[in-house]
Amino acid sequence: MKKALVTGGAGFIGSHLCEHLVRSGWQVCAIDNLSTGRYENIEHLESKKQFRFVKGDIMDEKLVDRCAKGIDVVFHLAAAVGVRYIIDHPLESMITNVHGTEIVIRAAAKNKTMFVLASTSEVYGKNEKVFFSEDDDRIEGSTTISRWSYACTKALDEFMTLAYHREKKLKTIIFRFFNTCGPRQTGRYGMVIPRFVTQALEGKPITVYGDGRQRRCFAYVGDVIDGMMRLVACKDAVGKIFNIGTEEDSSIIELAKRVKALTKSSSTIKLIPYEDAFDKGFEDMRYRRPDLTRIFTTVGYEPKTSLDELLKKVIDYYRNESK
Ligand code: NAD
Repeated sequence: MKKALVTGGAGFIGSHLCEHLVRSGWQVCAIDNLSTGRYENIEHLESKKQFRFVKGDIMDEKLVDRCAKGIDVVFHLAAAVGVRYIIDHPLESMITNVHGTEIVIRAAAKNKTMFVLASTSEVYGKNEKVFFSEDDDRIEGSTTISRWSYACTKALDEFMTLAYHREKKLKTIIFRFFNTCGPRQTGRYGMVIPRFVTQALEGKPITVYGDGRQRRCFAYVGDVIDGMMRLVACKDAVGKIFNIGTEEDSSIIELAKRVKALTKSSSTIKLIPYEDAFDKGFEDMRYRRPDLTRIFTTVGYEPKTSLDELLKKVIDYYRNESK
């Protein structure tokens, strides 16, 4: 039986990953400090023999070391996440995303365990290409604009991961997640789909930031996990970086209209200037689409879930939550 440690295991992606691993016969230990994650996300797994939840912090070196013993793969997902959260907690975010990662990767190296890093499309920054491929340049904004600290800390995590692979021969894989969505994702920290869905279901205005013409791709978490697991099983993936997501895109205003139609909501759609939603001088990108050539040629990954199917899953989840 293979053994996994999932940091951030009670979070949105982490809880789906734990569920998938348990279902596939892995023994799983999940660590989470429940800062943005929820115990309810993994509560249903607690009755399974192969699953163990540890409420704790990745900053606790001894705890992380203990949990990493005898593990085959460490999936490192714990991080400060979400534009809103990063802007509100800049210091804690940087410490978690840099020092926390250092603690987890050191424990993986000590135990000669494969290390899988959850990185982000944010590392491409303000690059204006329409499709990003893994070796593209990163163009980051000024250090006075808080949102770039997230991109910068995740880029540092990538450098650290690559250095451990080169110098310490640690088996590593880096995933750059583009917008990943599905049931259990919360809208509290700025994620757009759960925010629109809850606003629509409550009949409140659906609030679109900026002019709404910025385009994004929204991948279903189940497809993303399928891609991750294929790569973890593939020798050729070791030491590499992979974009993971979907190429189907939508403008944010179209997304708001689709959510309104699918929920049959009477909500209005309201444009909010970026300065009112975030900090003064907030910067956003027009496009953010992954070039999926590398993951496709390596493991044949292709996302299966359309945007409408994904939205229906999220809407059903929030409808059931409110019962
Ligand atoms: P999430 O907030 O649901 O998950 C992060 C989890 O980490 C939470 O459960 C949180 O409680 C936990 N955590 C935070 N700090 C911790 C600490 N110090 N110790 C222990 N646990 C801690 O968000 P998510 O969307 O599931 O993100 C998971 C990973 O994927 C993150 O690394 C994130 O940067 C990355 N990512 C996600 C997306 C996306 O669209 N969802 C996009 C790009 C990257």
